[in-house]
Amino acid sequence: MGITPQPGIMDIKLYQSGAASIEGVSEVVKLSSNENPHGPSKRALDAFRQSAGALHVYPSTDQLSLREAIGEVHDMDPERIICGVGSDEVISLLCYAFAGPGDEVLYTEHGFSMYKISALAAGATPVIAPETERYADVDALLAAVTPATRLVFIANPNNPTGTMIAEDEVARLADGLPENCLLVLDGAYAEYVEGFDGGRALIDARENVFMTRTFSKIYGLGGLRIGWGYGPQEIVDVLNRLRGPFNLSVPALSAAEAAVRDVGYTEWCRVENARMRDWMEAQLRTMGVPCDAMQANFVLPRFADAAQAEAVDAHLKSKGLIVRMVAGYGLPEALRITVGSETDCKRVIAAIKEVL
Ligand SMILES: *Cc1c(COP(=O)(O)O)cnc(C)c1O
Repeated sequence: MGITPQPGIMDIKLYQSGAASIEGVSEVVKLSSNENPHGPSKRALDAFRQSAGALHVYPSTDQLSLREAIGEVHDMDPERIICGVGSDEVISLLCYAFAGPGDEVLYTEHGFSMYKISALAAGATPVIAPETERYADVDALLAAVTPATRLVFIANPNNPTGTMIAEDEVARLADGLPENCLLVLDGAYAEYVEGFDGGRALIDARENVFMTRTFSKIYGLGGLRIGWGYGPQEIVDVLNRLRGPFNLSVPALSAAEAAVRDVGYTEWCRVENARMRDWMEAQLRTMGVPCDAMQANFVLPRFADAAQAEAVDAHLKSKGLIVRMVAGYGLPEALRITVGSETDCKRVIAAIKEVL
């Protein structure tokens, strides 16, 4: 064929999203995509509805109003914030801007699948560093750095492992990287960790650290696709050249602004998530199912083997409970289960008990 895509693109495997339906079951509970079971803030919904009156108008290109709201809530300079169509877009802009053919993009063994997809899309080479017992291993990451490494991604807390490494470990990673290599801290789950700012101090103190955040998880706006990044001015200036001028829609900008300002609701979601997550973790341990110290809005029980994980998954499905198989992430004996409402968490635990 004469028309061929750029190198790397045919190596991309299509993203497998969490299942949303079960054949023959009409009422399902979706606990496969780490969505907020309580939905977005009421203020975000109101803002979204109000934006319906302005759908004929192009959205703002500078996203100033949303950036200012994020800046106020997180005490950040709005000039150093960039908003994207989910943090997925920010991740892909980073890869397009800073990695190409011959360059390497490094992440951990059970790292988020978009790092690989975005690296390949940019023509770069994905490189994987081993983890230690499902925790990011700074020494292994530093050992995997070569003169070709341009970007290093770590999610803290990480998906799908749910684990987190300490701030001084992240600092050690940043300090150990060469000057021409950007460390990206993916903070998709940062809001779930009490008092955690996603590693913000590291970004302000260094020139090679960047952060991505999302409205898809604690803010409950995954359906609208909004994310953002914060980092050195020079990096943000580069990404803004690549960003589509109207990448975020009017409803997305309005809803996100209201959501980020509703700090009371965000805090309520954090507390409620921690309560049910810790309960599930304790229940799993009581059943003899190991589970690391979970830091985000999901649990990752590890069953005896892949067959048992599949049996549990099948039984949950028969009850209308959809969770995430993570064999594709190299964790065939585990299931990733989003922390749902209290009722749903109790149903999940009861159903797992029935299998074991
Ligand atoms: C869910 C998730 C994201 C968020 O992606 P969006 O594009 O913002 O919806 C980013 N990183 C990780 C590790 C995630 O789990």
